[in-house]
Amino acid sequence: DERKNSSGVNLNIHSESAPFLNKLSHFEGSQWQAGPIINGEAVLSHSNSEMCHQVASPYDAAQIVGQVIFADESAIETALQSAQQAFTSWNNGGVSERAAALYRLADLLEDNREELIALCAREAGKSIQDGIDEVREAVDFCRYYAVQARKMMQTPTQLPGPTGELNELFIEGRGVFVCISPWNFPLAIFLGQITAALATGNTVIAKPAEQTCLVGFRAVELAHQAGIPKDVLQFLPGTGATVGAKLTSDERIAGVCFTGSTDTAKRINLALANRRGAIVPLIAETGGQNAMLVDSTSQPEQVVTDVIDSSFTSAGQRCSALRVLYLQDDIADRVIDVLKGAMDELTIGFPTSIKTDVGPVIDATAQANLYAHIDHIKQVGRLLKQVALPECTHHGYFVAPTAVEIDSIKVLEKEQFGPILHVIRYKASELPQVINEINSTGYGLTLGIHSRNETQALHLANQLNVGNVYINRNQIGAVVGVQPFGGQGLSGTGPKAGGPHYLSRFITEKTRSNNI
Ligand code: GLU
Repeated sequence: DERKNSSGVNLNIHSESAPFLNKLSHFEGSQWQAGPIINGEAVLSHSNSEMCHQVASPYDAAQIVGQVIFADESAIETALQSAQQAFTSWNNGGVSERAAALYRLADLLEDNREELIALCAREAGKSIQDGIDEVREAVDFCRYYAVQARKMMQTPTQLPGPTGELNELFIEGRGVFVCISPWNFPLAIFLGQITAALATGNTVIAKPAEQTCLVGFRAVELAHQAGIPKDVLQFLPGTGATVGAKLTSDERIAGVCFTGSTDTAKRINLALANRRGAIVPLIAETGGQNAMLVDSTSQPEQVVTDVIDSSFTSAGQRCSALRVLYLQDDIADRVIDVLKGAMDELTIGFPTSIKTDVGPVIDATAQANLYAHIDHIKQVGRLLKQVALPECTHHGYFVAPTAVEIDSIKVLEKEQFGPILHVIRYKASELPQVINEINSTGYGLTLGIHSRNETQALHLANQLNVGNVYINRNQIGAVVGVQPFGGQGLSGTGPKAGGPHYLSRFITEKTRSNNI
């Protein structure tokens, strides 16, 4: 395959970082606007003021980033009709055309990298490094799915048959795909879903998370600029309860690609089942209760570096993030000691500074829920460390990175989507029980293992029902085409994003037996 992953920007190389930071600074005070994009027309005002929303930065409620107009019923209806009408010609237009448009989109994303990173920081609170990685991943998705779709669809499979009969198997798109994406990857997952659906010949209605409509809007503008036909990709900002519910109960849709909570995925499944119309696929990537197992052969400093990355990068707001650290008792005190020291070194602050390691969480609700959990779990367990928040964070939705020791994973009722690490000690003899406990959470997304005993590490990797296992490294930051990403059980339906089988759920097959 001729494709290479994007190299992003290396902030440690001055000749790369200086021009990048200079361009980035041009977007410091920028304001953005967003609204539904219906057949390429952006709706940027609405007579009903309830449809207009000011966007404030999660790190400082006084900083306004722009304004978003939510989609009303008539926008939803026009988008559905147009996307349905556009399907046949897009699907029949050929995979080469579609792939070429996705390659152009990848280039446009790179050309607009600084604006997109500024937007990710200001609207979603993502650090500069996270923003760089976000654009890189979005670019990789565009090119990866373009290549995969060409491989899969360019030439129909020739099948045997009696003399005079030509039998062929074609792979085609399914129809209108609804893509519902999360705020934690407002560009990468947003475009990953869309490009997978488009590459395979589907038309798309994209609903961004309501918290990150500005990023989504800009991405769709670039997609149209890249040559994705305007009726083929429609953009409907709004809430899940209104826009999402309306779309997923409409009989005209041919599939849903969703990333978000397990509860919402189940609601979507129900809506799809209860509506009139065909039985259609739901591709869902949901939460996790991700563990890391550290045995006594591990190297404490390396463990802590990887724990810090896995738990606190993106303020813990990744579904891959480490939530429960299992430490073998003979090494536990040492690791906890080093961990406390390393937590003190975290720089917490505005994501717009390149020094920041941990930015805010997404909104006031998330902040309140995380602190409620911390209050509760401190009673159940023992607080190991809570980092003090600097003054500058007081007008934003920050949560202090926290580590708490608990006795069992069973005390955790649900995923805590923030910078909170739970620590559990175990004895070597208890390992089978630990494996059991982790598996019985029902989730199965990422697993970290630290061990210098290869047999033991591979044994654990085989025993735990998870989608992504990382041995002797951190457990976040899956790379397109390198670590296909996605979980099992309560963590998602599969197939894996950025993997060779992802597109298979977006397609349908047609056998043609031709006796002309
Ligand atoms: N793919 C991302 C990672 O490995 C996580 C995706 C998510 O949080 O939804 O860090």
